[in-house]
Order: sequence, then C-alpha cells, then structure tokens
Amino acid sequence: MSVLVIADHDAGALSPTTARVVQGASELGPIDLLVVGDDTQNVVAAAATLAGVAKVLTAKGDVLADGLEMLLSTLAVRYHYVVASAGSVGKDVMPRLAAKLDLMPVTDVVKILGPTSFERPIYAGNAIQTVTDNQAKHILTLRASAFRPAATDTAAPIEVLDDEVNSVARLLAVQRTQSDTPDLATAQIVIGGGVALGSAENFQLIENLAKTLGAAIGATRAAVDAGYAPNDWQIGQTGKIIAPDLYIAIGISGALQHLAGIQGARKIIAINSDPEAPLVKLADIALIGDLFEIIPQLTAELESLGVRR
Ligand SMILES: Cc1cc2nc3c(=O)[nH]c(=O)nc-3n(C[C@H](O)[C@H](O)[C@H](O)COP(=O)(O)OP(=O)(O)OC[C@H]3O[C@@H](n4cnc5c(N)ncnc54)[C@H](O)[C@@H]3O)c2cc1C
Repeated sequence: MSVLVIADHDAGALSPTTARVVQGASELGPIDLLVVGDDTQNVVAAAATLAGVAKVLTAKGDVLADGLEMLLSTLAVRYHYVVASAGSVGKDVMPRLAAKLDLMPVTDVVKILGPTSFERPIYAGNAIQTVTDNQAKHILTLRASAFRPAATDTAAPIEVLDDEVNSVARLLAVQRTQSDTPDLATAQIVIGGGVALGSAENFQLIENLAKTLGAAIGATRAAVDAGYAPNDWQIGQTGKIIAPDLYIAIGISGALQHLAGIQGARKIIAINSDPEAPLVKLADIALIGDLFEIIPQLTAELESLGVRR
C-alpha cells in the first residue's frame, strides 16, 4: 500500500513530529515524504534519513492550506493513504483535501490496528473510538505524540516535483516563541504547573526544575488564564497533547480537560497538598505537601546528585 506523508517543518528544520508520524504511518506501507517550501535543503536532507521513507518528494512554494490542497489532490491519485500530523498544517489542509476528493478523513489517529482500522480519542479523550474506513483511499491525521520517532538510518532518494505551490492566501507574519527548553509535544519529560503556583514569578520554580531535568514546561488552563504562563504552554483538551515518558504535575488538580492532554504519559508524578485530588489518585507516585517546600528541595537534591541533562 502506498503512503504519502506531509512533512512538518519550521525555520529551516524538520519538525520532530514528522519522525513520529513516519513511524506510525510505516505500519501502512512504504512512505513517500513530501516536503513543501522554499530553502528546505536541510529539511529534505533530514527527511531522507528517516527509516520507513522510500522517497522524499520536494516542491517549492507556500505551505498554506489552499495551495497545499491543490498539490495534494493531484498527488493523491498515486497513493492509498495521505497522512499528516494532527498539527496546525494537518488540521487545516486534510479536511479540505478530503472534501475535494469526496472522502471522509479519519483524524487524530492514536493507533493503527490494520490497513482500514484506526483508533482515535473522542469525548475529550474519555473514550477511544475504533473507526473502520472502507473507502478506496484514506485521508488520515496522526497524533504524533502517540507514536515513537522513526530511527534515522537510511538515505532515501529525493525527487524534485515540477509543481510550484501557490496560495491565494498570504502569510503576513510569523511570531515565534524563543525557548531553550524541549518542544512540549514531543519532550521525554514534561513538568506542568497549575494555578497553585500563584504568579508568573513563581513559575520560575518549575523552570529551574525543568532545566535540571532537561524537561519541557507546561501549564493548566487556569494558570494560563491567570497570566502565570504563556498560552503555548497549555496542556489539555484545548491545549497541547503530550506523551512524555515522565510527566510531573505540580499543583494541578487533574480536571478532565487537563487529563485529556496527558493520556499518553507513561509515568506520572503528582505534587499536591490534597491527597484526594484526581491527579494524585491517577499518578504512579504522589508527593503530598506544599509545592513551595517540595520543589526547591527536589531541585537542590537533583542538582547535588549531579543530575543535569
Ligand atoms: C471547555 C473547557 C476547556 C478546558 N480546557 C482545558 C485545557 O486544555 N487544559 C487545562 O488544564 N484545563 C482546561 N480547562 C480548565 C479545567 O476545567 C480546570 O479548571 C483546570 O485544569 C484547573 O487547573 P489547575 O489544576 O491549575 O487548578 P485547580 O483545579 O484550582 O487545582 C489547583 C490544585 O493545586 C493544589 N494546590 C493548591 N495549593 C498548593 C500548594 N501550595 N502545594 C501543592 N498543591 C497545591 C490544589 O490541591 C489543587 O489540586 C478547560 C475548561 C473548559 C470548560
């Protein structure tokens, strides 16, 4: 079965989500990985190394949904599956492509059970739906965090497409958050802070601990709404979906909308003064006490043990 995957990239670098989507989609067949954009030499080179990629296709032009949809609808005739990550590009372009091809997209796939059978979360992650897709062609978005990254051991050939992708829409500006911490959606360790931190300054406690562990930083919506943490740190139903090996939840009650974003976490440590908090009950390990005492002690202890990643 032939598979076309759309690569995510930004600022001249291949996004870590692409390696995860490639790994997930490799269960469906050999992959042609499509890189669209200008000045993408580094992206294409990185894409060609991913295990499971048979060929990298590259086209110049805009990565905006209307132009991308035109290119994909032409390419789609060659493939059984067209796959993207369930990120901002995939969420924008794949429903348009599906509508154009008169197909039903299967979105937010977290498990591939077989060639036509997929699992996806519903009801804010409180139930998992199994979808059987018997259409001739499949339009899928994959939740990258649900899959391990593909290894990098190949050197796939590169095919330059003649098509230039032109959009009617125009990109006016890009605003990037500068950060030296790992990407929240793909980090191995995530530390999340709740509204109990009490101020943006107190979030520094989380940042210190995160630096020690080489972790990404997240927050609850209550903490974001209170102005203690930036919007792009929000984890949950209306924030980012994470799937780290370890999630340390600090002063977080564990509302359903927050839990919807952390179901892929392999181990959870909760630090909370309330032993009855839902997240404490869900956690593998719970430290019951005042976060303002526990966090500085934990950070100092880890530093004294020489833990710094
Ligand atoms: C439509 C909708 C979408 C939403 N989407 C999201 C989403 O995407 N993500 C999200 O996170 N929320 C979301 N929410 C909000 C969600 O319902 C909760 O309100 C929010 O997650 C609670 O955040 P919190 O845990 O920081 O605060 P709280 O629920 O107030 O919990 C604070 C916790 O801190 C503990 N605590 C207090 N002081 C200390 C201390 N000194 N030391 C240790 N522990 C302490 C308390 O025991 C408590 O458990 C959404 C809500 C709605 C209605």
